[in-house]
Amino acid sequence: MISVDEHLESILAAIPTLPAFAQTLLDAQGCALGADVACRVDLPPFDNSAMDGYAVIADDVAGAGPDTPVTLPVVGDIAAGASRAYAIRPGMAVRIMTGAPMPHGADAVVPVEDTDADTTRVRVDRAAAAGAYVRRRGSDAHAGDLVVEAGTVLTPRHISALAAAGHGRVPVHPRPRVVVLATGSELQPPGTDLGDAMIFDANSFGLAASAREAGAIAYRVGIVPDDPRQLLDLLEDQLVRADMVVTSGGVSVGAHDVVKEVLSRLGTVEFREVAMQPGKPQGFGTIGNDATPIFTLPGNPVSAFVSFEVFVRPAIRRLQGMPTDDRTRVAAVAATSWRSPDGRRQYTRVHYEPPADGQPLGTVTPVGGQASHQVSDLAGANALVVVPESATEVPAGAQVETILLDDLPGSVRAVAR
Ligand code: AMP
Ligand code: MG
Repeated sequence: MISVDEHLESILAAIPTLPAFAQTLLDAQGCALGADVACRVDLPPFDNSAMDGYAVIADDVAGAGPDTPVTLPVVGDIAAGASRAYAIRPGMAVRIMTGAPMPHGADAVVPVEDTDADTTRVRVDRAAAAGAYVRRRGSDAHAGDLVVEAGTVLTPRHISALAAAGHGRVPVHPRPRVVVLATGSELQPPGTDLGDAMIFDANSFGLAASAREAGAIAYRVGIVPDDPRQLLDLLEDQLVRADMVVTSGGVSVGAHDVVKEVLSRLGTVEFREVAMQPGKPQGFGTIGNDATPIFTLPGNPVSAFVSFEVFVRPAIRRLQGMPTDDRTRVAAVAATSWRSPDGRRQYTRVHYEPPADGQPLGTVTPVGGQASHQVSDLAGANALVVVPESATEVPAGAQVETILLDDLPGSVRAVAR
């Protein structure tokens, strides 16, 4: 058996990051930026008004106050989007809207609230300092300034800044296309009437969902019976659209373990026993002319889920140019005791309860059955506890390393680290 860390390391050594290419801004959301992106123009691109009001020369209204109003002729009206033809001389005002270009000569804006709002002769009731309510060209950023750094995973805030900076497309590492298929002649699609000795296919759905959650575009191919010819044909068909292939089932030592049989013959996939529970039988390698990475996960749904979490998710993130280990890890206290196999790292499915008021740590309780076919209990878990290889028992009250599977509120994360 090899360790989890060794197996993961050998996988990541074989996974490249997909080259970045230009994508439209909304398609780029959630992807990692492939290069530094700079501002195309000054922001704001020109001096403009921060208020609806009157552009003036500050000196002209220096003495204005409630009892000493200053009245100025209004010589024009500038709307947002109007070209910059206006200029004023001392003793004049121009009505101006928020975002409209400042007229030449003006150096301050008097908000409409500080006037009588007249459109021919305006009464100003309050002084304005030079620069008041003027948004200077370049006061946010200058052309050439860095807006978003390479490697940043683009959120709505970045999309907004990139758009403002003038970019219709930006280079990002694309979402990998991950083909997911489940092998097993006993499998039937959910939503059908279950036949004798058949079970519903959980894995092609669960793994496709996990792939999507990791940022991939998942192609759920569905069920392949335990037949070598059919599996080979299907893999060949699917390779054209795959940046990665994930299979489940057929990797143990049973008589009809078709994945192992077929892929062993090709000689590019290595089947290994990894010192973990669940998920001992693992296969990883490449197939096809483009050496597409392929993961062959065990068939038990819980094993498949945990294997994905531990090995496939980091690989999908590597393809996207993102840090491979993004899950929040917290210390928590075991609410009960449980056993763990000697020499294997256990990923215990638990329910994590955030810290109660005044407590430093949250608690974890194993969910129902821990056997690797107990997929309905998996639904009750929101975290995995990592029990080290050397431990054979987790005593109640012990502090344990916990991987949070769901995005939890910020308060939990804050306590966590
Ligand atoms: P295998 O790895 O093919 O030997 O499968 C191990 C166990 O997982 C068997 O009990 C299978 O019936 C079950 N299994 C395999 N694939 C799936 C699947 N897609 N959905 C649910 N159970 C599965
Ligand atoms: Mg099988």
